[in-house]
Amino acid sequence: MKVPVAKPALIGNEKQYVMECLETEWISSNGKYIAKFEEAFSQYIGVKHALTCSNGTVALHLPLLAMGIGPGDEVIVPTLTYIATANAVKYVGADAVFVDCEQDTWNICVKDVEAKITPKTKAIIVVHLYGHPVVMDPIMALAKKHNIYVIEDCAESLGATYSGLQTGSVGHVGTFSFFGNKTITTGEGGMVTTNDDGLAARMRLLKGQGMDPNRRYWHTVVGYNYRMTNIQAAIGLAQLENVEWHLTQRRRIAEKYSQEIEKRKLPVTIQKTSDNTTHSYWMFTVLLDKQDEKYRDLIISKMAELGVETRPIFYPMHLMPPHFVSKTFKNAEEIAAAGINLPTFSQLSDDQLDYVISTLEKVLN
Ligand SMILES: *Cc1c(COP(=O)(O)O)cnc(C)c1O
Repeated sequence: MKVPVAKPALIGNEKQYVMECLETEWISSNGKYIAKFEEAFSQYIGVKHALTCSNGTVALHLPLLAMGIGPGDEVIVPTLTYIATANAVKYVGADAVFVDCEQDTWNICVKDVEAKITPKTKAIIVVHLYGHPVVMDPIMALAKKHNIYVIEDCAESLGATYSGLQTGSVGHVGTFSFFGNKTITTGEGGMVTTNDDGLAARMRLLKGQGMDPNRRYWHTVVGYNYRMTNIQAAIGLAQLENVEWHLTQRRRIAEKYSQEIEKRKLPVTIQKTSDNTTHSYWMFTVLLDKQDEKYRDLIISKMAELGVETRPIFYPMHLMPPHFVSKTFKNAEEIAAAGINLPTFSQLSDDQLDYVISTLEKVLN
């Protein structure tokens, strides 16, 4: 049996909507699916504005630009995240100030955030890691006290909730990715959400080459071409129509993995879920009982030999050449050295799931 770690499920109106783009020749970044996808997405998240863009990385760049963050400013970022979160801060010339994560939830540590706030801090980017929502109230309270922005990187958390609210509706801005392995996909694509009219207008201006919305070919700022195409939006709309199904499948998978891990007494730990949150299980992840990268890589390669693709948890940002800082972030380093993502995708069958668990059990013995 072969089991990939991720795989898109194009089981709804994707083909029909894409064919309509082709037949009507609306294949570029104008066309009805852009507005439809944005409208449906803003309703789903529960925000005033949703703006399509090219990917989840530029979705992070846009709010930083719109907030006027630049050289000399600091942005707080968890060190345990995907590289895009930290890179976006560098794009605007600001300094990424890393913070550690909590040992049990693997999400950003509020105490460490508080300790790292300085007069130069302009924003905090929280990451709902692997689909598990950050407890937002303490973060929002700190942000309010120090008058700084909060960006939620929701690339992995579409459909997850905090306090009954969708991730991406609590901070000043939420950002999403629709890469092929994400909860819903457009191939490549992204979305920015906000309730702030001013930020929304600014981001719309920036993603469309800085062109004045009331005067064609008059460009008021140096903008970017960060647009999504109508074809991508067509796929996105069809995917979003089935978002609840995607989430139900992921939760079924996570529940089964958790049950089997307990039943078989496998020597691994799983991410602790915070109160008042629902996890969207982008990637079901386990920590091996040894914090040893070599051992982790050995387990990954043994699983691969038996046909099961897994991935290591992200390397912490502060250890990588473009973002290196010679400081220790104990929790993030320990989690990163021990963690692997197990196959998690909507169409993972019960047979495949059993096979993944049996294979894990076998290689751990
Ligand atoms: C996937 C991801 C992104 C970037 O998304 P792309 O669409 O690949 O550019 C950003 N942040 C996190 C946490 C991600 O997992």
